[in-house]
Amino acid sequence: MVSKRLMDVPESGTVAIANLVSQLKHDGVNIVSFSMGEPDFDTPDNIKQACVRSLNDGFTHYTPSTGIPELRKAIAETTAFNNKIKCTAKNVLVTPTKQALFMIALAYLDPGDEVILPDPAWVSYEAVIRLAGAKAVYVPTRFEDNFRITADMVASVITPRTKMLILNSPSNPTGSVLPRKTLKGIADLCIDRNIMVLSDEIYEHIIYEGEHVSIASFDGMFDRTFTISGLSKTYAMTGWRLGWLVAPEKIIAAVNKLQTHSITCCTSFTQPAAVEALKGPQDSRKRMVTEFRKRRDLALDLLSEIKGLECNRPEGAFYLFPRYDHKMLSDDLAMHLMKEAHVAITPGRSFGPAGENHFRLSYATSEKNITEGIGSMKRAFSKL
Ligand code: PMP
Ligand code: GLU
Repeated sequence: MVSKRLMDVPESGTVAIANLVSQLKHDGVNIVSFSMGEPDFDTPDNIKQACVRSLNDGFTHYTPSTGIPELRKAIAETTAFNNKIKCTAKNVLVTPTKQALFMIALAYLDPGDEVILPDPAWVSYEAVIRLAGAKAVYVPTRFEDNFRITADMVASVITPRTKMLILNSPSNPTGSVLPRKTLKGIADLCIDRNIMVLSDEIYEHIIYEGEHVSIASFDGMFDRTFTISGLSKTYAMTGWRLGWLVAPEKIIAAVNKLQTHSITCCTSFTQPAAVEALKGPQDSRKRMVTEFRKRRDLALDLLSEIKGLECNRPEGAFYLFPRYDHKMLSDDLAMHLMKEAHVAITPGRSFGPAGENHFRLSYATSEKNITEGIGSMKRAFSKL
């Protein structure tokens, strides 16, 4: 019997579809996958070579649980420079981004606590909130507002039990980016109502219009903010499992306690390569963003030819989140597209109640796949 804690938590909707795609491909079915949110590019060579060097140098044992000092310093410097967050190496814990989320929930949430999050939002937030015994309080956002959450919307659901707010800009699954003014309003509210903020900035560099603003950069916010980010999306390094938490020292100490009892530390020989990623040449990162923008525009053009679909033009990340007007649940739509078009998308409902009647399309795949896959989708939609 699994624990009561786990019983009601569904498996990750994104990973479930990705596993199904792998199985079908293994069985010889030719699937175009718009499901998994991961860059299709290879990790840049300078980063891979740095990893090979550290392996050849025998850097294959435990590291300090908080991460090697050089990497903590590199993360602090880039965070101070890019995100305008006043931090030093002591404010950094090196840990996979998903692990950071999990440990923050276990370290800071008690049963009965409420956590506010935008609806739709990435699949794992609600799961970890529930695993920690706390309650997820969704704030529905609107297609017409580009799925942006505002301070007024947050204020409308605050109760005496509200402990934390989760923000994710650029957003998975909608690609929307929160403007500075909106974030400032939310920051003022959180200070006024004593709410902690978990700011998931993993798509911070994948931005096409507007700017990335870190909420921890506003006066009075550093002390109450967990800023998490990582290498997965920015440098096409999803398999490396490397990210970080930036927060006040006492938060780092609390979360590190969980790190010492779980993964101990991140993989040793990848950490010097992470220093190379952050401090080495950034041209491949910029090239990937240029490619993503081209793919976004191509996918939007092609989707606009499908009757019954509407889609916003997202400013960041690599997802589209179209709304459809067919009377069909998004789980069933995903199955229809898989069967009829051999195309994998993620059902919108996986991202929260407001995601129903939408689906997520990850365009982190080739222009050829985008053209072929959306062409097949068009034919499958015409049969509905
Ligand atoms: N946050 C968001 C919004 C994500 O989309 C992902 C995707 N993987 C993560 C966190 C976790 O990142 P990682 O796989 O690097 O742990
Ligand atoms: N974040 C990516 C996605 O949403 C990878 C899978 C996951 O971690 O959820 O597809």
